[in-house]
Amino acid sequence: MLSVKDHNRESAGLTYVYPVVSRRSGGLSVGINLNPNNACNWACVYCQVPNLTRGRAPAIDLLQLETELTDFLHEILEGRFLEEQTPQWARRLNDIALSGNGEPTTAKEFGQVVEIINKILKELHLLGRIELILITNGSQIHRPDIQLALKRFGELDGQIWFKLDRATPGGIYQVNGIKLSLKRVRENLVIASSLCTTWIQSCFFSVGNFPPAVSEQQAYLELLASFKNDNLPIAGVLLYDLARPSMQPDSAKLSNPGFDWMNQLASAIRDLGYLVKLAL
Ligand code: SF4
Repeated sequence: MLSVKDHNRESAGLTYVYPVVSRRSGGLSVGINLNPNNACNWACVYCQVPNLTRGRAPAIDLLQLETELTDFLHEILEGRFLEEQTPQWARRLNDIALSGNGEPTTAKEFGQVVEIINKILKELHLLGRIELILITNGSQIHRPDIQLALKRFGELDGQIWFKLDRATPGGIYQVNGIKLSLKRVRENLVIASSLCTTWIQSCFFSVGNFPPAVSEQQAYLELLASFKNDNLPIAGVLLYDLARPSMQPDSAKLSNPGFDWMNQLASAIRDLGYLVKLAL
Protein backbone atom coordinates (compact mmCIF):
# COMPACT_ATOMS: atom_id res chain seq x y z
CA MET A 1 0.00 0.00 0.00
CA LEU A 2 1.41 3.41 -0.98
CA SER A 3 1.80 6.11 1.66
CA VAL A 4 2.58 9.83 1.54
CA LYS A 5 5.97 9.09 3.12
CA ASP A 6 6.92 6.70 0.33
CA HIS A 7 8.26 8.30 -2.85
CA ASN A 8 10.30 5.30 -3.96
CA ARG A 9 10.69 5.70 -7.72
CA GLU A 10 11.00 1.94 -8.13
CA SER A 11 7.81 0.99 -6.28
CA ALA A 12 6.04 -0.12 -9.47
CA GLY A 13 9.05 -2.09 -10.70
CA LEU A 14 9.39 0.20 -13.73
CA THR A 15 12.29 2.31 -14.98
CA TYR A 16 10.58 5.59 -15.81
CA VAL A 17 7.12 5.51 -14.22
CA TYR A 18 6.22 5.46 -10.53
CA PRO A 19 3.13 6.18 -8.42
CA VAL A 20 2.94 8.55 -5.45
CA VAL A 21 -0.02 9.38 -3.24
CA SER A 22 -0.24 13.02 -2.31
CA ARG A 23 -2.11 14.68 0.55
CA ARG A 24 -1.82 18.01 -1.30
CA SER A 25 -3.94 16.74 -4.15
CA GLY A 26 -5.86 14.06 -2.29
CA GLY A 27 -5.07 11.63 -5.08
CA LEU A 28 -2.55 9.62 -7.02
CA SER A 29 0.26 11.24 -8.94
CA VAL A 30 2.00 9.30 -11.69
CA GLY A 31 5.62 10.37 -11.73
CA ILE A 32 7.91 10.20 -14.73
CA ASN A 33 11.53 9.82 -13.73
CA LEU A 34 13.90 10.81 -16.54
CA ASN A 35 16.91 10.41 -14.21
CA PRO A 36 17.00 6.72 -13.27
CA ASN A 37 20.78 7.23 -12.98
CA ASN A 38 20.21 9.44 -9.85
CA ALA A 39 22.10 12.26 -11.56
CA CYS A 40 21.26 15.93 -11.14
CA ASN A 41 23.08 19.10 -12.13
CA TRP A 42 22.27 20.51 -8.66
CA ALA A 43 23.09 19.03 -5.25
CA CYS A 44 20.39 20.21 -2.83
CA VAL A 45 21.23 19.53 0.79
CA TYR A 46 17.67 18.28 1.43
CA CYS A 47 17.46 16.08 -1.70
CA GLN A 48 15.67 12.78 -1.09
CA VAL A 49 17.43 10.94 -3.90
CA PRO A 50 19.72 8.18 -2.59
CA ASN A 51 23.21 7.95 -4.11
CA LEU A 52 22.72 11.31 -5.81
CA THR A 53 25.50 12.11 -8.26
CA ARG A 54 26.26 15.29 -10.17
CA GLY A 55 25.33 14.94 -13.83
CA ARG A 56 22.56 14.82 -16.38
CA ALA A 57 19.79 12.46 -17.39
CA PRO A 58 20.97 9.46 -19.43
CA ALA A 59 19.69 8.67 -22.92
CA ILE A 60 15.98 7.90 -22.58
CA ASP A 61 14.50 4.75 -24.12
CA LEU A 62 11.40 6.47 -25.49
CA LEU A 63 9.68 3.28 -26.57
CA GLN A 64 10.06 1.80 -23.09
CA LEU A 65 8.81 5.02 -21.48
CA GLU A 66 5.77 5.09 -23.76
CA THR A 67 4.97 1.45 -23.01
CA GLU A 68 5.40 1.89 -19.26
CA LEU A 69 3.21 5.00 -19.13
CA THR A 70 0.49 3.53 -21.35
CA ASP A 71 0.33 0.24 -19.47
CA PHE A 72 0.44 1.86 -16.06
CA LEU A 73 -2.33 4.33 -16.86
CA HIS A 74 -4.47 1.48 -18.21
CA GLU A 75 -3.87 -0.39 -14.94
CA ILE A 76 -4.99 2.65 -12.95
CA LEU A 77 -8.04 3.32 -15.11
CA GLU A 78 -9.20 -0.25 -15.69
CA GLY A 79 -7.26 -2.52 -13.34
CA ARG A 80 -7.18 -3.02 -9.59
CA PHE A 81 -4.20 -0.77 -8.81
CA LEU A 82 -6.14 1.97 -7.02
CA GLU A 83 -8.16 -0.51 -4.99
CA GLU A 84 -5.20 -2.66 -4.00
CA GLN A 85 -2.30 -0.20 -3.72
CA THR A 86 -3.65 3.17 -2.61
CA PRO A 87 -5.38 4.34 0.57
CA GLN A 88 -9.07 5.02 0.16
CA TRP A 89 -8.70 8.83 0.29
CA ALA A 90 -6.30 8.77 -2.69
CA ARG A 91 -8.20 6.56 -5.16
CA ARG A 92 -8.30 9.04 -8.00
CA LEU A 93 -5.73 9.91 -10.64
CA ASN A 94 -4.78 13.54 -10.03
CA ASP A 95 -1.80 14.27 -12.21
CA ILE A 96 1.21 13.23 -14.22
CA ALA A 97 4.39 14.82 -12.87
CA LEU A 98 7.73 15.05 -14.63
CA SER A 99 9.85 14.72 -11.56
CA GLY A 100 12.34 12.16 -10.45
CA ASN A 101 15.82 11.42 -9.28
CA GLY A 102 17.38 14.45 -10.95
CA GLU A 103 16.55 17.45 -13.14
CA PRO A 104 14.14 16.26 -15.90
CA THR A 105 15.02 19.02 -18.37
CA THR A 106 18.62 17.80 -18.60
CA ALA A 107 17.25 14.94 -20.73
CA LYS A 108 18.05 15.49 -24.42
CA GLU A 109 14.74 13.82 -25.28
CA PHE A 110 12.64 16.11 -23.05
CA GLY A 111 10.62 17.50 -25.98
CA GLN A 112 9.87 14.01 -27.27
CA VAL A 113 8.74 12.96 -23.81
CA VAL A 114 6.24 15.84 -23.76
CA GLU A 115 4.89 14.64 -27.12
CA ILE A 116 4.56 11.07 -25.82
CA ILE A 117 2.59 12.30 -22.80
CA ASN A 118 0.35 14.32 -25.11
CA LYS A 119 -0.29 11.31 -27.36
CA ILE A 120 -1.11 8.95 -24.49
CA LEU A 121 -3.36 11.41 -22.67
CA LYS A 122 -5.27 12.04 -25.91
CA GLU A 123 -5.69 8.31 -26.53
CA LEU A 124 -6.98 7.76 -22.99
CA HIS A 125 -9.19 10.88 -23.08
CA LEU A 126 -7.33 12.30 -20.09
CA LEU A 127 -6.17 15.55 -21.65
CA GLY A 128 -7.60 18.44 -19.63
CA ARG A 129 -8.99 16.03 -17.03
CA ILE A 130 -5.84 15.58 -14.97
CA GLU A 131 -3.04 17.99 -14.09
CA LEU A 132 0.31 17.98 -15.89
CA ILE A 133 3.21 19.16 -13.77
CA LEU A 134 6.92 19.72 -14.38
CA ILE A 135 9.00 19.98 -11.22
CA THR A 136 12.21 21.74 -12.24
CA ASN A 137 15.13 23.75 -10.96
CA GLY A 138 14.76 25.86 -14.10
CA SER A 139 18.44 25.61 -14.96
CA GLN A 140 17.94 24.49 -18.58
CA ILE A 141 15.27 27.01 -19.55
CA HIS A 142 17.76 29.08 -21.59
CA ARG A 143 17.98 26.16 -24.08
CA PRO A 144 15.86 26.74 -27.23
CA ASP A 145 14.80 23.06 -27.38
CA ILE A 146 13.55 23.23 -23.78
CA GLN A 147 11.66 26.45 -24.48
CA LEU A 148 10.01 24.81 -27.48
CA ALA A 149 9.05 21.80 -25.35
CA LEU A 150 7.69 24.02 -22.57
CA LYS A 151 5.64 26.03 -25.05
CA ARG A 152 4.04 22.74 -26.07
CA PHE A 153 3.68 21.75 -22.40
CA GLY A 154 1.89 25.06 -21.78
CA GLU A 155 -0.47 24.42 -24.70
CA LEU A 156 -1.39 21.15 -22.97
CA ASP A 157 -2.16 23.19 -19.82
CA GLY A 158 0.99 21.89 -18.14
CA GLN A 159 2.25 23.81 -15.15
CA ILE A 160 5.80 24.40 -13.95
CA TRP A 161 6.82 24.15 -10.31
CA PHE A 162 9.95 26.27 -10.32
CA LYS A 163 12.45 25.67 -7.51
CA LEU A 164 13.47 28.81 -5.65
CA ASP A 165 14.71 28.01 -2.16
CA ARG A 166 16.90 31.00 -1.33
CA ALA A 167 17.48 34.49 -2.71
CA THR A 168 21.14 35.23 -2.06
CA PRO A 169 23.99 33.64 -4.04
CA GLY A 170 25.44 32.35 -0.73
CA GLY A 171 22.14 30.86 0.39
CA ILE A 172 21.59 29.24 -3.01
CA TYR A 173 25.06 27.73 -2.88
CA GLN A 174 24.51 26.33 0.62
CA VAL A 175 21.07 24.90 -0.10
CA ASN A 176 21.24 23.91 -3.77
CA GLY A 177 24.97 23.33 -4.21
CA ILE A 178 25.33 25.59 -7.24
CA LYS A 179 26.66 29.03 -8.09
CA LEU A 180 23.75 30.97 -9.50
CA SER A 181 23.18 34.71 -9.81
CA LEU A 182 19.83 36.29 -8.99
CA LYS A 183 19.90 37.81 -12.48
CA ARG A 184 19.88 34.30 -13.95
CA VAL A 185 17.12 33.18 -11.56
CA ARG A 186 14.98 36.10 -12.72
CA GLU A 187 15.71 35.44 -16.41
CA ASN A 188 14.79 31.77 -16.03
CA LEU A 189 11.59 32.60 -14.19
CA VAL A 190 10.59 35.21 -16.79
CA ILE A 191 10.95 32.57 -19.53
CA ALA A 192 9.15 29.85 -17.53
CA SER A 193 6.19 32.06 -16.67
CA SER A 194 5.86 33.24 -20.27
CA LEU A 195 5.48 29.63 -21.47
CA CYS A 196 3.43 27.84 -18.78
CA THR A 197 1.45 28.52 -15.64
CA THR A 198 4.30 28.76 -13.14
CA TRP A 199 4.36 28.23 -9.39
CA ILE A 200 7.40 29.01 -7.28
CA GLN A 201 8.31 26.03 -5.11
CA SER A 202 10.39 26.74 -2.00
CA CYS A 203 11.71 24.49 0.73
CA PHE A 204 12.65 25.88 4.16
CA PHE A 205 14.32 23.98 6.99
CA SER A 206 16.57 24.49 9.99
CA VAL A 207 20.25 23.64 10.05
CA GLY A 208 21.53 22.61 13.47
CA ASN A 209 18.11 23.66 14.83
CA PHE A 210 18.56 27.22 13.50
CA PRO A 211 15.94 28.32 10.97
CA PRO A 212 17.11 30.38 7.98
CA ALA A 213 18.64 33.72 9.02
CA VAL A 214 16.42 36.79 9.07
CA SER A 215 18.59 38.28 6.31
CA GLU A 216 17.84 35.22 4.09
CA GLN A 217 14.09 35.49 4.75
CA GLN A 218 14.25 39.19 3.97
CA ALA A 219 16.13 38.63 0.71
CA TYR A 220 13.61 35.95 -0.28
CA LEU A 221 10.64 38.23 0.43
CA GLU A 222 12.30 41.13 -1.38
CA LEU A 223 12.90 38.97 -4.45
CA LEU A 224 9.26 37.85 -4.46
CA ALA A 225 8.19 41.49 -4.06
CA SER A 226 10.35 42.46 -7.05
CA PHE A 227 8.64 39.78 -9.19
CA LYS A 228 5.31 41.36 -8.25
CA ASN A 229 6.63 44.83 -9.13
CA ASP A 230 7.72 43.46 -12.51
CA ASN A 231 4.24 41.93 -13.02
CA LEU A 232 5.64 38.43 -13.51
CA PRO A 233 2.61 36.16 -13.92
CA ILE A 234 3.41 33.79 -11.03
CA ALA A 235 0.46 31.60 -10.04
CA GLY A 236 1.57 31.39 -6.42
CA VAL A 237 4.07 29.90 -4.00
CA LEU A 238 4.23 26.27 -2.87
CA LEU A 239 5.92 26.36 0.51
CA TYR A 240 7.43 23.17 1.93
CA ASP A 241 9.39 21.99 4.90
CA LEU A 242 11.17 18.61 4.90
CA ALA A 243 8.39 16.20 4.01
CA ARG A 244 10.76 13.23 3.96
CA PRO A 245 14.32 12.81 5.24
CA SER A 246 17.20 14.07 3.13
CA MET A 247 19.40 11.31 1.72
CA GLN A 248 22.45 13.58 1.54
CA PRO A 249 25.52 13.59 3.84
CA ASP A 250 24.34 16.53 6.02
CA SER A 251 20.86 15.13 6.58
CA ALA A 252 21.36 14.71 10.35
CA LYS A 253 21.80 18.50 10.71
CA LEU A 254 18.48 19.29 9.05
CA SER A 255 15.13 19.60 10.79
CA ASN A 256 11.82 21.35 10.30
CA PRO A 257 11.59 24.94 11.53
CA GLY A 258 8.16 24.31 13.00
CA PHE A 259 4.57 25.12 12.19
CA ASP A 260 4.61 28.68 13.59
CA TRP A 261 7.78 29.65 11.71
CA MET A 262 6.42 28.30 8.42
CA ASN A 263 3.05 29.94 9.00
CA GLN A 264 4.67 33.33 9.63
CA LEU A 265 6.63 33.05 6.41
CA ALA A 266 3.48 32.01 4.53
CA SER A 267 1.66 35.09 5.93
CA ALA A 268 4.50 37.39 4.89
CA ILE A 269 4.35 35.96 1.35
CA ARG A 270 0.56 36.35 1.27
CA ASP A 271 1.01 39.98 2.35
CA LEU A 272 2.95 40.50 -0.90
CA GLY A 273 -0.16 39.44 -2.82
CA TYR A 274 0.73 35.81 -3.58
CA LEU A 275 -1.46 32.77 -3.27
CA VAL A 276 0.44 30.41 -0.92
CA LYS A 277 -0.04 26.67 -0.55
CA LEU A 278 1.66 25.42 2.55
CA ALA A 279 2.56 21.72 2.57
CA LEU A 280 3.77 20.57 5.98
S1 SF4 B 1 17.16 19.82 -8.03
FE1 SF4 B 1 15.82 18.21 -7.21
S2 SF4 B 1 16.76 16.26 -7.85
FE2 SF4 B 1 18.30 17.89 -8.11
S3 SF4 B 1 19.47 17.85 -6.22
FE3 SF4 B 1 17.86 19.38 -5.96
S4 SF4 B 1 16.14 18.29 -4.99
FE4 SF4 B 1 17.56 16.73 -5.82
